[in-house]
Amino acid sequence: MVSRSLALMLLLPLASMPALAGAQSGTAPSSMETSTISTAPPGRDPNQPIDVEYTKKIHEYTTESFFLSPLVDYLPASKTVPTPKAVLGDIAGARNNLPYSKEVYAYMRLLAKASPRVRVYSIGKTEEGREMIAVAVASESLLSRLDENKAKLSKLADPRTINMDDAQAAKIIDDVAPVYYITGTIHSTEAGAPTALMEMAYRLAVDESPYIQNIRNNVITLITPIVEVDGRDRMVDVYNWHMAHPNETAPNVLYWGHYVAHDNNRDAMALTLDLSRNVLDTYVGWRAMVLHDLHESVAYLYDNTIGDGPYNAWLDPLLTNEWQMFGWNNVQEMTRMGMPGVFAHGEFDTWSPGYLMFMAATHNGISRLYETFGNGGTAETMERTLPPSETARTWYKQNPPLPRVMWSLRDNNNYEETGLLVSLSYFANNRHQFLENFYQKSKRSILKAHTEGPAAYVFSAADPRVGTQADLLRVLQLQHVEISRATAPFTVNIPARKGKPKRGTSADTGSTAKSETRSFPAGSYIVRMDQPYSRIADALLDYQYWSPDDPQKSPYDDTGWTFPENFNVQSVRVVDPAVLSVPMEAVKGEISAPGGVTGSGNVFVINNNGDNALTTLRYRLKSADFQAAEDPFEAGGKSFRRGSYIVRNVSQGDLNSAAKELGVTAYAVASVPSVKMHPARAARVAILHTWTSTQTEGWWRQAFDVAHVPFSYISVQDVAKDPNLNAKYDVILFPPSGNAQSIVQGMPMWRNPMPWKKTALTPNIGLWGQTDDIRPGLGLDGVQNLQNFVSKGGVLVGVSSTADFAISYGFADGVSKNTTGRGKIVGSLLRTRIVDDASPLVYGVSDSLAVYSEDGESFSVSNTRGGRGGGRFGGGEATRATGRGTIDDPDVVQGRPKLAERNMAPVRPSVEPWQAAPVTDEQLRNPLSVIPPDQRPRVALRFTDQRDLLVSGLLDGGGDVAQKPVVVDVPVQKGHVVLFANNPIYRGETLGAYPLVFNAILNFDNLNAGRKLDDK
Ligand SMILES: [Zn+2]
Repeated sequence: MVSRSLALMLLLPLASMPALAGAQSGTAPSSMETSTISTAPPGRDPNQPIDVEYTKKIHEYTTESFFLSPLVDYLPASKTVPTPKAVLGDIAGARNNLPYSKEVYAYMRLLAKASPRVRVYSIGKTEEGREMIAVAVASESLLSRLDENKAKLSKLADPRTINMDDAQAAKIIDDVAPVYYITGTIHSTEAGAPTALMEMAYRLAVDESPYIQNIRNNVITLITPIVEVDGRDRMVDVYNWHMAHPNETAPNVLYWGHYVAHDNNRDAMALTLDLSRNVLDTYVGWRAMVLHDLHESVAYLYDNTIGDGPYNAWLDPLLTNEWQMFGWNNVQEMTRMGMPGVFAHGEFDTWSPGYLMFMAATHNGISRLYETFGNGGTAETMERTLPPSETARTWYKQNPPLPRVMWSLRDNNNYEETGLLVSLSYFANNRHQFLENFYQKSKRSILKAHTEGPAAYVFSAADPRVGTQADLLRVLQLQHVEISRATAPFTVNIPARKGKPKRGTSADTGSTAKSETRSFPAGSYIVRMDQPYSRIADALLDYQYWSPDDPQKSPYDDTGWTFPENFNVQSVRVVDPAVLSVPMEAVKGEISAPGGVTGSGNVFVINNNGDNALTTLRYRLKSADFQAAEDPFEAGGKSFRRGSYIVRNVSQGDLNSAAKELGVTAYAVASVPSVKMHPARAARVAILHTWTSTQTEGWWRQAFDVAHVPFSYISVQDVAKDPNLNAKYDVILFPPSGNAQSIVQGMPMWRNPMPWKKTALTPNIGLWGQTDDIRPGLGLDGVQNLQNFVSKGGVLVGVSSTADFAISYGFADGVSKNTTGRGKIVGSLLRTRIVDDASPLVYGVSDSLAVYSEDGESFSVSNTRGGRGGGRFGGGEATRATGRGTIDDPDVVQGRPKLAERNMAPVRPSVEPWQAAPVTDEQLRNPLSVIPPDQRPRVALRFTDQRDLLVSGLLDGGGDVAQKPVVVDVPVQKGHVVLFANNPIYRGETLGAYPLVFNAILNFDNLNAGRKLDDK
């Protein structure tokens, strides 16, 4: 249909178009650049011809006239610069046209070739080797001064370079163009951004309207049209399959990036993914100020940046004001244009700094995010009906979306482009203020060491886990945080904590003094807070507290992340600025732990300190003989922990070079220490996945790739077909993936098969896992094959939902799972204790390890099949019936003699929540359900007492979680099932818990080591 605004444009003489009226009012043409241009209303320059064909198509593909704006209801023509049609064969946002990354890039490069106002930069590669780009658009004059401009921005970004001189900053601010960085389609099913950004780049380069000139002359717009490039190409594959099979059900895009799907937007803390590092490096490298990330979900445009409380506690309040300014301006301007469904505020809380956009928030810039409406990754135009909750008028959504509309990719592109151009215009007009804030925020980040504090975080050179410490410090380096290293021993004052020590890795001593001192050796690392990017360091290293009384009852994501706890590394928060005067030097180059072999002899001893590099080393030296000590021991005058490695059959040279590279210290000794030991083998590992949910397991694959631990990637369908899994694998890891029923059943078998396979039509799919039909699940054959695998000596690791699967299908007699009420624990870190330090699962693990708990799951154990366990008396919750006396008194039956000793029940031993109740003689009379002692669950790790349970995040209550088992080893005939209630490998953040999994692998055939059996 021809829309109302096109009809208007065709009818009215050009001179009466609003854009012209605005541009010409009042001021003389010579000063237009500086004053009137900034007040020019949006709309075309009547003197610039439009691309009539293209414009016609815009109106054809837009389904309602009010889904257009004066900014996008035409396309200016150019004799020299090609429109997106040159590559797409149609306009941006055209019906049924979804381009691959190579087409998007081809167009951007075409644009750069044709226009002096556009440049394309390669910003890195993805995990699968695809290129990521950034497109800069600005006036010729600005682009010709890029380096000079960047040098000025650098001074604002790091005010130390101008000695924090406000006057000098003010001069720079008058004469510099800020950078606004826009990132598209990180989420692959939210597919509209690339075409919107292609067209917007063209408009910014070509449009001569004062509104666009104002942007181009005053702002450098930087565009990464596709953040998740691997996922984009798979999305287009799935879309093409869908279009080729119009009457069939299409598979979901199972894998977006190589590792994870939606969680690629939760990686801004640990920076494990290439896309995160590439975007951050681009943002910081350009000294950009805004990072504006484009998403799709709710109708029609939600500026979610304002969001809702609680706001992240480590940000400068100036930023949170800027969110409001940008957001409400967006709502105002687009509402003025008559576009319905534009709103801000909403329910998204702004607590976690894990989102891609938050890279700007934590680096003194401005984070922004749009949710626009989309059709789930298709370019088709579809009728969409919204639920009443989305169309109701609220205080923040005065012009809500319509209950039912036809919605097109073009509509989506209209909203995205209009919102972005409105924002760019606002940014251009208020750049002075934003630059002033940028400088102030950078300055206050430096002053932080002396104002709000802390002054620094210190990482001791004496940390028992220097390897994992280096892992953590490297994350800070990736975050562009400067790190220093003490050149001499030093001492700091830290406030003393009241009461008993709570935090296992902090500096508490329980002293009642006001302050105490801590000493650190030379070589300790110091993260100074008087640097521009102090806020990201503070946000990652500090503790989080989410009050159970917070008005926000639905945390949007994790509530706690404290990196030193997650990594199991010591860090000391120092408030006293005296620490800044300690002799130190800036660290240059990537931080690594010291390593190598010392001493001489052909037996090598390596302390098990829980560093993950030990596992890497074991796989690196595959032919060497590694033995794990079952007890602590001494050798060469040094003490070694239980689980330490005795290594033979390797040359000192080979071990030395591997140990050096990996940051592992080995000691050569003359003879094998006298200690009980068993082989620590490089087990053959499989990571098992379903076809229903592949995201969470992606973090496991990522961790294994980083640690260079090889694995086979197998699906539940592979297991169903393989009756002899033991021939290929020693350990099968089954990361969280759907509930027990869906694991076995798979997807509904009605309708058509859904392939996930590399074909000519879908060349980007199935590169590391494929099937003709994703619907079938594990099936009962698969359950049987897994059970055979375990009973014949294999180890199956189940985590959260897959632990539930293992319990439900009878793999783990004596274990039951407890869930806590919703809202009590949401992505928090909880404290644990080791129950059985002889268990190989906890070799090298600290007694107070913090683990990630998504929602407070825990286990209970019992010595009988079907027993629930738990309770003070193991299976009996109540201690006594209603009757006479106090709770500890016996009831007394009236009218009969006092109970004789022989008639009294034996005193039952008290049973802790992490223990199974001892079996009774009654149960043993005919012990059908009594699990034989050597097959009973063995608890390795439990949660702490309630008062110490919360490490970081939200904990409401917790009484039903405290002291319960977290990690349980269940012997099943010759094999084992190892169950986790926490997720030990998660988002590249839980490195302190990785050893629990690696231990299961290296000790797979000796998990019973150190086990004490019940006598009955
Ligand atoms: Zn999204």
